[in-house]
Order: sequence, then structure tokens, then C-alpha cells
Amino acid sequence: MMTKRCPDCGRHLPHSDFGRNKTLPDGLSFYCLACNRARNNDWYRRQRRSLGKEVRDLSWVPQGFRWCPTRQQAVAHADYIRNAALPSGFGTRCKACHNRLSKDAYWLRRYGLTKADVEQLRADQGNVCGICGTPDPEHLDHDHSTGRTRLLLCQRCNHGLGLFRDEPYLLRVAALYIEGHRQEHANDVVRQAAIEAEAASRPGEPPVGSQRRPGARGTSTRSTGRNSGSRRREQAGEVDG
Ligand SMILES: [Zn+2]
Ligand SMILES: [Zn+2]
Ligand SMILES: [Zn+2]
Repeated sequence: MMTKRCPDCGRHLPHSDFGRNKTLPDGLSFYCLACNRARNNDWYRRQRRSLGKEVRDLSWVPQGFRWCPTRQQAVAHADYIRNAALPSGFGTRCKACHNRLSKDAYWLRRYGLTKADVEQLRADQGNVCGICGTPDPEHLDHDHSTGRTRLLLCQRCNHGLGLFRDEPYLLRVAALYIEGHRQEHANDVVRQAAIEAEAASRPGEPPVGSQRRPGARGTSTRSTGRNSGSRRREQAGEVDG
């Protein structure tokens, strides 16, 4: 393996531990990468101090971590924004901060709302979805026809409105559809219960519609069952729709 001696730390290191420098005969940087970094840091600190600026000591930040100036915390490299265009290969903040800030910027650009506006709206609606009450709603809903903001909604309710094309008429029809089918099912249950109750009140006789009395399955027997069923429902205070 080709090695080169770093004049700063005195170590003999593989070429891969040196940066590139086309102005030098071997095409490698004078010092090894680690020493270069330390020297650059020292230079940077001296510059900042000479300008009267505060210099944070980040030497304690462990290997594999990076200081996020926005969050003021050491963050694992995996959670840090990458930027191949910068010498460090990293962006200026961690992914969480980046996402939060770009979301803030998105709302400002799209709805003209600042973060404070959105937080005020959130407080006003008790931090629950404007439709179903799920906590921590994330989506700022708006009227597509006018562009005006409405309320913060949970993801499910937001998708729901979209799937019904934000159309109140369709949403009402869908509600009636579900209620109608539930009522129909309830009516069947009551009807069946009435038939069974009537059969039980006349012991010895097979129930209405039984296979053992094929000749007796006339309309009169059936209508008796239905009539008594609806009578029962009227007594129970239910109204036929
Ligand atoms: Zn070195
Ligand atoms: Zn951060
Ligand atoms: Zn909801």
C-alpha cells in the first residue's frame, strides 16, 4: 500500500487518508485529513475570536455525531441533512429541523400563514382535528375553490374530504346511504324477532314459514307476522320511515 508521512502528526498513512492537492508533486494534500481538519478548525476559531465572535467548543461532540446549531444539540450523522456541495458533505442543520423549517416555509408560501398564525389556530381549536377530534392534527385544510384556510384536520379526515371531492352533497348522500342500510338491517332483526316471539307464544305450533307446514304458508299468516312486528315497534316508540 502506498503511504505518505504527515509532517504534522508524523504518522505514515495510506494515500486515502490525504486530501487532493493538484499543486503539489504527489497530488496529495500536505497534511493528513485529520490534521487538516484540526488546523482548519484552529484557523476558523482564531478568525472568529479576532472578529470578537463567540466560538463554541464542539470538541466533545462524539465521533459519528454533528452539532445542529438550530436545535443546539449533537445529532447522529444518519439524522443530519447531507449536502455534497459543501466541504463537510453535510448541510447546515439536522433533518428534523430541516423538515420543520421547510414545513413552516411551505405554510407561509402557500397560505400566507406564519408559524405563530398556525399555532394560534391550533390553540383556538384545542389542538384536535376540526372534524373527528383526533389530537395533534397535522393538515391545514383549505377550500380549494377559494383558497381560504379552514381548520387543522387529521390526515384521515383530510383525505376523506378529498375523496368525496369536497362536495357536501356527496357527503350527505353517503351518510344517508350508510344510515339507510343500517336501518334496513335493524328492521330485519325486529321482524325476525317478532316472528320468533309469536311462534314461542303458541307452543306446539311450528313457527311461521316452517318447512313442516308447507300448505299453511299463505299470505294471511305472513301479514299477521308483519303487522304484529310493526305494532311492537310502534309500542316501543319507534317510527317507521
Ligand atoms: Zn497528520
Ligand atoms: Zn436540528
Ligand atoms: Zn379527523
